[in-house]
Amino acid sequence: MRALRLMNWKSEPELVEVPKPTPGPGEVVIRIGGAGACHSDLHLMHDFVDGSLPWNPPFTLGHENAGWVDSIGTGVTSVREGDAVAVYGPWGCGKCSRCRLGIETLCEDPVLAPVPGGGGGLGLDGGMAEYMLIPSERFLVPLPANLDPLVAAPLTDAALTPFHAVRRSWTKMTPEATVVVIGVGGLGHMAVQIIKATTAARVIAIDPKPTALALALEVGADETLQPDDQTVKIIREMTHGHGADVVLDFVGAESTLKLAMASARTLGDVTLVGIAGGAVPFSFFSQGYEVSLQTTYWGSRPELVEVLNLASRGLIHSEHTRYSLADAAEAYVDLAAGNVRGRAVVVP
Ligand SMILES: [Zn+2]
Ligand SMILES: [Zn+2]
Repeated sequence: MRALRLMNWKSEPELVEVPKPTPGPGEVVIRIGGAGACHSDLHLMHDFVDGSLPWNPPFTLGHENAGWVDSIGTGVTSVREGDAVAVYGPWGCGKCSRCRLGIETLCEDPVLAPVPGGGGGLGLDGGMAEYMLIPSERFLVPLPANLDPLVAAPLTDAALTPFHAVRRSWTKMTPEATVVVIGVGGLGHMAVQIIKATTAARVIAIDPKPTALALALEVGADETLQPDDQTVKIIREMTHGHGADVVLDFVGAESTLKLAMASARTLGDVTLVGIAGGAVPFSFFSQGYEVSLQTTYWGSRPELVEVLNLASRGLIHSEHTRYSLADAAEAYVDLAAGNVRGRAVVVP
């Protein structure tokens, strides 16, 4: 079969011929129906060297996957051949207290995981191929009947990550609350929809690009702002001087974090999702009283079930541009150039 593989750090991926995997005991092979191309894959290609991560190339790219069960190993009982499934991407040990809750992103015994701190497309072979080996049936979530793998694949990261971030602050997203979403890209535009679908809070979306703000309005944002030196003041005016109850920063640059901290209401949450690497000072008086600053990373398996449910009911929707496996390398070129509408999804 064909697979798009990262052969070395600091290199472009190559479309190569590899053997079709066969499932061992407890394992499942799926036929890929969609594999999302993610910005973090560009980091894999360009930014890491030996020793940066607990694993190294070569491996097949693609950590946002869905498809159909092709074959099952002995002992697999929860799925059958032909079942439509989404792949829960972060693969932990399955036994520690975090994994037992389905929070395999935060596995506390990663040396016992299929690969420490990774998964399919992250150290092990991912879904940019015709077939993919899944090391355990617990990484498979059944797809609701009306959800195509092409649509579901990018939701496993691009929707799961903002869903987890929103869920952590749900109790603060009351009907009278204001939530600020900074950065309306692939994750931010899902965040707006998730907030509107699961809470009654007001959403203010912030992005320098007019097209991003138009998209934010299209998917349900109540107000949009292009950031400038007046933005904090405007947010305060929009909130009777209080500030935002929750600020989700999908960029994570110094400037966006500063904006987030200055916009937060007392008792508010500032959640850093984006990995631009910015930093801000954090001291007793550097923000309003009792403002919490937190990071988030990907999401849990139960949350993926909820994300797929929202999508199957039409409450959240992810735009996508379809690429063939032969054009998969092109998808990353377009992604790097900012030329993809919605998520680039590879369909073998
Ligand atoms: Zn991703
Ligand atoms: Zn674990």
